[in-house]
Amino acid sequence: MQFHDSMISLVGNTPLLKLGNVTSGIQATVLAKVEYFNPGGSVKDRIALRMIEAAEESGELRPGGTIVEPTSGNTGVGLAIVAQQKGYHCIFVCPDKVSTDKINVLRAYGADVVVCPTAVDPDHPDSYYNVSDRLVRETPGAWKPDQYSNPNNPRSHYETTGPELWEQTDGRITHFVTGIGTGGTISGTGRYLKEVSEGRVTVVGADPEGSVYSGGSGRPYLVEGVGEDFWPSAYDRTVTDEIVAVSDKDSFQMTRRLAKEEGLLVGGSCGMAVVAALRVAERLGPDDVVVVLLPDSGRGYLSKIFNDEWMNDYGFLEQAGDAPRVGDVL
Ligand code: PMP
Repeated sequence: MQFHDSMISLVGNTPLLKLGNVTSGIQATVLAKVEYFNPGGSVKDRIALRMIEAAEESGELRPGGTIVEPTSGNTGVGLAIVAQQKGYHCIFVCPDKVSTDKINVLRAYGADVVVCPTAVDPDHPDSYYNVSDRLVRETPGAWKPDQYSNPNNPRSHYETTGPELWEQTDGRITHFVTGIGTGGTISGTGRYLKEVSEGRVTVVGADPEGSVYSGGSGRPYLVEGVGEDFWPSAYDRTVTDEIVAVSDKDSFQMTRRLAKEEGLLVGGSCGMAVVAALRVAERLGPDDVVVVLLPDSGRGYLSKIFNDEWMNDYGFLEQAGDAPRVGDVL
């Protein structure tokens, strides 16, 4: 019989898929590392597992302990699954702008979710940051992973994502392209690939226009999970050779093309990373192998990126002609 004993053993070892349509006119091979095949549906399962295991080893997290993290997204899901499997309790703190669907996913795994008002100053006692700090202080056996500063975030990618890519490409990878949020993926995977290839792999960060990584001021953008308005310590900027800034419009249009042309229903940061990967691949030759990492699935963005009305409100859809289209309500 072939079976897994635990959801935990399904983390990692995600497939590489060749992009065959959005790459037309490009000579280099462009491969996507499809992270939605992780059990929690995103790349963040990798860091959740490694951060929890390291905290068990160091004694920071003990049997029956509680994991407290300010997150509403993919990291929360990863932590919730690993915690459920290992018998820990989770409390997630998130701002009130987060959709009820996301909150319900975390609660489905047995986590508690504390929702904080967005419209208060960071110093206010009810702010997202202050509430999570207070919960850590006041909850017995509490431990806060803090993905932005936890070295086990990049380490998980150094130990898993990097070696997987080297093996899957038979050492032929020449370029690695990924979005930067906490910086864990690019720092850990990039460092491994540079070491194992003796510097031959070029590491490219994709960043939303406006984020600090590409020289922006931290002004708002709509792509989720990437870009920052501060420099987290999980990000080792010495690993990145080049940063490509991508607009929201280009990111979301490519996200839609990936579903229509490649059968890949993925999130907006994936579209952003693919735009950056194609810009890099355009200047390369047939022997180059570009790997682009796609962090999550498009299921969490159906009412935004995959909703014409939302896209139109922001001017992200091309102007349609006058001719009626199937699906139009006339
Ligand atoms: N895309 C999405 C959807 C994410 O949730 C994240 C994680 N914040 C990233 C990209 C970036 O990954 P990292 O934090 O490892 O830089």
